[in-house]
Amino acid sequence: MKVTVFGIGYVGLVQAAVLADVGHDVVCVDVDQNKVDNLKKGLIPIYEPGLTPIVESNFAEGRLRFTTDAAEGIAHAEIQFIAVGTPPDEDGSADLKYVLAVAETIATHMNSPKIIVDKSTVPVGTADKVSAKVGSVLSTRNERIDYHIVSNPEFLKEGAAVSDCMRPDRIVIGTDSQHVEEQMRELYAPFNRNHDRMIFMDVRSAELTKYAANCMLATKISFMNEMSQLAERLGADIENVRRGIGSDERIGYHFIYPGCGYGGSCFPKDVQALVRTADEIEYDAQLLKSVESVNYKQKEVLFDRVFNYFNGDLAGKTIALWGLSFKPNTDDMREASSRVLMEKLWEQGAKVRAYDPEAMEETQRVYGVRNDLDLVGTKESAMQGADILVICTEWKVFRAPDFDQIKRSLTYPVVIDGRNMYEPEIVERHGLEYFGIGRGRSI
Ligand code: NAD
Repeated sequence: MKVTVFGIGYVGLVQAAVLADVGHDVVCVDVDQNKVDNLKKGLIPIYEPGLTPIVESNFAEGRLRFTTDAAEGIAHAEIQFIAVGTPPDEDGSADLKYVLAVAETIATHMNSPKIIVDKSTVPVGTADKVSAKVGSVLSTRNERIDYHIVSNPEFLKEGAAVSDCMRPDRIVIGTDSQHVEEQMRELYAPFNRNHDRMIFMDVRSAELTKYAANCMLATKISFMNEMSQLAERLGADIENVRRGIGSDERIGYHFIYPGCGYGGSCFPKDVQALVRTADEIEYDAQLLKSVESVNYKQKEVLFDRVFNYFNGDLAGKTIALWGLSFKPNTDDMREASSRVLMEKLWEQGAKVRAYDPEAMEETQRVYGVRNDLDLVGTKESAMQGADILVICTEWKVFRAPDFDQIKRSLTYPVVIDGRNMYEPEIVERHGLEYFGIGRGRSI
């Protein structure tokens, strides 16, 4: 089938590449000329395992094309995906300007019926706004062309985006049209062979499903972080508690890891956006507000530990930092806990010497060159001349470090671990002081 995808970000590029990989003919449209030019040269703008080979092979075989020419993309296919960003507005609500701009562009250039599929995460009621926008542009053009607005939220996880799109847990489609259902079934048939993963529903329910899913996951994290705060103060070990509760099937082991707060481009903004949606309909979303405020506080935990360890005297200290991205297997720094830590350390006159397997270029882009930030090529060199070590992201390469070397490298033999990667007894056996999250001891 022919498909057009607007927005070549994490969602658009991965989805486009995966659709092309099963044989669909995909045109990707983006307003970022640089991104399009680079993709044509084989330069992939994001790090995502397994993405580069499928972009390269499908581009080479002509099933995946990149352009800034919206008219070309619109003429290409009946199915038009919208996968542009929906960043938080000043009040935390989702900013729909990019989504509505694409809707306007499609309506301006379309000369045949279109199925406009919204993959961006958008508040309930957005499909109506997109429909109104398309309708008003068509009426100023004096055209009557059929169109459908469909909600097809994306559930991929950064770091596993390709495999999530290849083998989705579910494909949610919000539509009331038989024709759309048939087209979507045909489009996704290659991903729907093992069992039926397609769930059809009304558009509003589909829009809310995405927010409900992310808010549920964020709630699990904030719940565990709150438990970790209690564990720490009560002399309990949250890791024992985690195993203890996870064994209950109704709770399960997934997604109940305590840590230094959730980040990324989705959870923080989606929780905020649903709180704003609730405000608009005068519903006080107390639970969601707490999820947000617990997370906000949790992101400060690592800094508080460093601050307390040095009795507030951080000027001139050098902190070794392992992990910058908001989670492993991505270079995404949006809302990463490392940012809260680094910015607070800098305010106090400390220096950061950091290593991350993928996110250093992005960190450099975000912060530019500064005297108090050294980005170094290995986890070992991050510790050279540093006072203590802090871990922000649980990359696999940090799982089994040489603790003796850590002890030799640091001025103060202290590891502050925001992801509970190690067993305290093992670290302490090597003569290091260890502070995890909710492990019965704090500074
Ligand atoms: P992104 O910022 O990585 O990419 C968005 C792209 O859209 C950019 O390349 C931008 O240049 C392009 N764009 C903006 N305006 C455009 C226009 N008028 N025409 C064409 N292209 C345009 O965003 P993302 O992370 O891929 O997220 C996209 C949406 O998907 C968001 O709503 C997000 O909440 C949702 N989502 C993201 C993830 C994730 O893990 N990143 C997962 C599920 C859902």
